Amino acid sequence: MLSDAELLRYSRHLLLEEVGQSGQEALKKASVLIIGMGGLGSPAALYLASAGIGHIVLSDFDSIEVSNLQRQITYQSDDIGDAKVEVTKRKLQQINPEIKVRSINKSMGAEQLTMELTMADLVLDCTDNMESRQLINKACVDTKTPLIVGAAIRLEGQLMFFDHREENSACYHCLFPDSEEQTLNCSNSGIIGPVVGTIGTLQALETIKHFVGLPSGIKNKLKIFDGKTLDWQTFNINKDANCAVCGKG
Ligand SMILES: [Zn+2]
Repeated sequence: MLSDAELLRYSRHLLLEEVGQSGQEALKKASVLIIGMGGLGSPAALYLASAGIGHIVLSDFDSIEVSNLQRQITYQSDDIGDAKVEVTKRKLQQINPEIKVRSINKSMGAEQLTMELTMADLVLDCTDNMESRQLINKACVDTKTPLIVGAAIRLEGQLMFFDHREENSACYHCLFPDSEEQTLNCSNSGIIGPVVGTIGTLQALETIKHFVGLPSGIKNKLKIFDGKTLDWQTFNINKDANCAVCGKG
């Protein structure tokens, strides 16, 4: 049940046939784990808190640096030196006191990650490196947790959705079986803020659609966004029957 304060707060959702009261109640019941509170995690967390996701868990081990402020829109100059998860938690509670927010101020190993996933309905991978992505993917496959992956570099973004509750879902490792450490990242290659912001925002949109029961057009697909032309390319991700993570290995 939604309180009068919630009915008012979410009135623009309630006007939508696609959300309505039942959709808003589903958002309230939802628990989302966001891993990485950088340029992707910032807009994703702000939108999901605003939308009324009832339980948000934030994970990151970093503190805020001045070079983050060009794109990580949760943070302000006064926040430099503070832990990203603590600042984000505070801002999310300021936006929406109706929801619960918990922070994990560390890099989670496989064991803790698996434990957290047993409590999460969906995970947003907002990290910036291949090693973390492979670890998160494996834990999501093992626990059958839906996973929305975002990535961005320079003027290009990527978006993927793997619903590991579904029998024949592909996984991140099917697409990138070579787990060699990637050499490109934002700190050595650069990034434009709105490019990473677009992808993080769409991770939030796919999350809201998931919980209100709208179909996703991006499951088992890789969407690539070109920030120069604003064109999108779409590639199907086929499940690899011999995938070391989701297949026969
Ligand atoms: Zn796989």
